[in-house]
Amino acid sequence: MSAQEVDIVVVGAGPVGLMCAYLAQHCGLSTAIIDKSDKPLAVGRADALNARTLQLLEVANLFDELYPLGKPCNTSSVWADGKFISRQSTWWDSLEGCFHKHFLMLGQSFVENLLDSKLKKTESAVKRSTSVMNVEINADKCLTTLSNGETIKSSYVIGADGSRSFVRDHFKVGFEIVRPQIVWAVIDGIVETDFEKVPEIIVFQAETSDVAWIPREGNIDRFYIRMDTKDFSFEDALEKINRAIRPHTLKFKEVVWFSQFSVKESVAEKFFVEDRVFLTGDASHVHSVNGGQGLNTGLADAFNLMWKLNMVLKHGASTDLLHSFEGERKPVAQSVIESSGELVRSTKYSQNGTHAQDYVNIVQKRAGNITGMGIRYGELGLRGTRLYDLEIFCGPLKTRIYSLLDYARYTLLIFSDDKINLNLPEYVNIIQIKSHKNQSDYWTKESPYYNQAILVRPDSYIETSVTVDKIESLLTHFLN
Ligand SMILES: Cc1cc2nc3c(=O)[nH]c(=O)nc-3n(C[C@H](O)[C@H](O)[C@H](O)COP(=O)(O)OP(=O)(O)OC[C@H]3O[C@@H](n4cnc5c(N)ncnc54)[C@H](O)[C@@H]3O)c2cc1C
Repeated sequence: MSAQEVDIVVVGAGPVGLMCAYLAQHCGLSTAIIDKSDKPLAVGRADALNARTLQLLEVANLFDELYPLGKPCNTSSVWADGKFISRQSTWWDSLEGCFHKHFLMLGQSFVENLLDSKLKKTESAVKRSTSVMNVEINADKCLTTLSNGETIKSSYVIGADGSRSFVRDHFKVGFEIVRPQIVWAVIDGIVETDFEKVPEIIVFQAETSDVAWIPREGNIDRFYIRMDTKDFSFEDALEKINRAIRPHTLKFKEVVWFSQFSVKESVAEKFFVEDRVFLTGDASHVHSVNGGQGLNTGLADAFNLMWKLNMVLKHGASTDLLHSFEGERKPVAQSVIESSGELVRSTKYSQNGTHAQDYVNIVQKRAGNITGMGIRYGELGLRGTRLYDLEIFCGPLKTRIYSLLDYARYTLLIFSDDKINLNLPEYVNIIQIKSHKNQSDYWTKESPYYNQAILVRPDSYIETSVTVDKIESLLTHFLN
């Protein structure tokens, strides 16, 4: 049987692998995506998309379909001994340059099912009930062998095969796991209670802080319950909920998902092998669910990697660009481990016995990770920062910058009223934004980028910027 040949093989069709394949298709790359499961996730697992993920979904034209399905939530409150203690949302409210200053509470299955259905309309539907058994890196191609005996040649392979990654283990990439001996029960379901339901994340303080109540899409609620041992029943978890919310009581009319997980923390020693095989999502970092960062960090990996592969495969960029995937994403993974690690430990240990309040204070301190908006690549100036979203107008019509970005291309934003003629390669889209109202061009009277030319990467981080009079130097530097 002759081998199929594609640009990229994606191992694993969890949310991260699906996003990698979807973005590759968007860029016009050919892909094969393989998963051993027979269908996308139906219930459970991640429950929140952060503000940065929402912006990235907009760039990938997925926002409009997902957003109406979820429930916005930007408030965390603390209850102790049956009393309301505090309510905070400052870290969301103070975000600048974005229009959705909240989590979108929405189960991971919605993301997976949307992407899975989009891929079915391409030549790269997920090949299911099939495992990847071997990956070889040869002189100029990779060769992937599947459990049905088929082989696939590709320029690149992406390991998006989860925390027990076959790809990571196969290439002997170090993944030393720390286990802080913390076990959670998770219940999704429809509740009946005399506690007044509010669409907020509520952290309850009893002796310690063992219970968090998370609003979800539709009429579902989620509870995280920290358990003392791995051997517990649903009734044990329910008893802890009732202890935390007393004097109120709660029962489940319907249980949609009941699961447990033991916290593990690790970052892969490296994120790529021989410039050919890349590790993304849980294959390269695992940590506690506190702060809701697993899915969000994995999706951001996909957005960081796929445009770089596109630029190398289709537009002759140097493979050095691919190395920046690890340079940029490994420190982020490390910081996510630190922030989720600090959060999860605070549920068990507190110097003053104020676990729940400590928890919310840590959320505030680590808001850059939790909202996703504090991630930047590079230390100085605008370079490496996320592009601010702005309302702009085209004639009388209102739009926003993020709805004009295209993941397959860079965007050169020129904030100037001068006439500017530039000859740019087709992988750079130019948008000029003037400072006064006019009928035919984009314009805005308010912009933090006044008189700047901003080159924006496909993943909507700023590549570089100069004042408009130096635009030639920006292009000479960037295009050579
Ligand atoms: C209870 C719970 C709650 C969570 N809550 C949150 C949250 O609130 N917010 C958040 O951001 N994250 C949360 N997470 C984490 C989130 O679910 C994961 O980070 C996310 O699923 C990682 O996606 P992934 O695509 O990297 O890996 P996975 O979703 O694990 O997908 C990996 C895929 O690879 C496939 N696979 C594995 N090996 C092979 C092979 N050899 N061949 C073919 N296919 C293979 C598997 O079948 C699977 O479909 C939670 C997780 C759990 C368990």
